[in-house]
Amino acid sequence: MKKNIAILGSTGSIGTQALEVMGANPEIFSVSVLTAQENADLLIEQAAKFLPKAVVIGNEKHFDKVKSALSTFNIHVYSGIEALVSVVESDDIDTVLTAMVGYAGLLPTIHAIKAGKDIALANKETLVVAGELITGLARQYGVNIYPVDSEHSAIFQCLVGEEGNRIEKIILTASGGPFRGKDRAYLAHVTREQALKHPNWSMGAKITIDSATLMNKGLEVIEAKWLFDLEASQIDVIVHPQSIVHSLVQFEDGSIKAQMGLPDMKLPIQYALRYPARLKSAFPRFNFTDYPSLTFEKPDLDTFRNLAIAYEVLEKGGNAACIVNAANEIAVEAFLQGKIGFLDISDLIVESLAKISYISTPTYSDYVQTNEATRRFASELIQVKV
Ligand code: NAD
Ligand code: MG
Repeated sequence: MKKNIAILGSTGSIGTQALEVMGANPEIFSVSVLTAQENADLLIEQAAKFLPKAVVIGNEKHFDKVKSALSTFNIHVYSGIEALVSVVESDDIDTVLTAMVGYAGLLPTIHAIKAGKDIALANKETLVVAGELITGLARQYGVNIYPVDSEHSAIFQCLVGEEGNRIEKIILTASGGPFRGKDRAYLAHVTREQALKHPNWSMGAKITIDSATLMNKGLEVIEAKWLFDLEASQIDVIVHPQSIVHSLVQFEDGSIKAQMGLPDMKLPIQYALRYPARLKSAFPRFNFTDYPSLTFEKPDLDTFRNLAIAYEVLEKGGNAACIVNAANEIAVEAFLQGKIGFLDISDLIVESLAKISYISTPTYSDYVQTNEATRRFASELIQVKV
């Protein structure tokens, strides 16, 4: 029987690669739902090709366009935030791939879990904001969360067959981004264009900036805590500029397992969608002689403060990571718009953490309020700075 997949954020970097995987394996996957926020043209093109049961365009301004373009197909067309959130509940969906960016992923993921859908999780912000709530719900509703993030997929792959064996620690690899080895004086003047040039991966704008500030690795440390039930002290980060070793697990006997390969997100995407089976693929293969040295170095936490901040809030718990995530989303957006400098991103996060009230055991509505209050505060700070 085919596996029915809903892709939230189908027009993005992960979404389009997921459709490539599904297009290459039509006997295995079928597309139930596609959603996008703004890119109506691509959503229409994808729907006409993959014939999902339903599509949702987030921005209602594009509804008429999508509706009329798909009128000859038997596809339900919806728009708006409520449809984005509830479309995942449809009976014929097996797995929901959360490939939208940012905090917006939280509510649809909650709805999908409550409807009993397995989650293929690319939207790491959901676990950063509300990891305790999400993993609790997943246990309660008996759904699996399969990681799509390449590092977490690597760890997940290393853990297959290790049931019952305790993890001593995990080691997340980081490329170091475009500014590896640079100091703060240099970073003070880097441009949006420089920050958007990632050495090894081609991704959406937000995660690319997060990779340049090492916030992405910080978010991934928090994501790993929730996915694999670890303490902060069990999660190490090592900079590995070649991005060939995707991450490692160290067990109690001292043995370390790594998962390796050329960087290609299609591999973790298809592993998450088809676990435990591996699908045959034609992706380019890694060749050791092309890489005479794989190198590893310590991350520079004094220069790239966001990674240090992530460890701090991981220890702190409660709504602290939600504050960091919201401040970071506002700061990254402002940096992309040229309103603030690269180093202002960390400053804005630190100031938000100092200002927004800490809640040790937040409810869902506490997360909503924390997110809103932090966004408001960080946006006001930016107004003052410009
Ligand atoms: P992207 O910007 O390329 O795509 C984002 C998608 O989300 C688009 O389809 C867009 O229409 C949709 N979207 C944007 N805002 C939305 C909103 N408010 N509500 C609903 N949908 C919205 O982003 P991406 O690079 O594909 O990343 C998606 C997620 O996957 C992020 O959480 C990112 O951290 C994670 N991730 C990405 C990669 C990668 O290689 N791109 C790797 C690991 C993890
Ligand atoms: Mg990653």
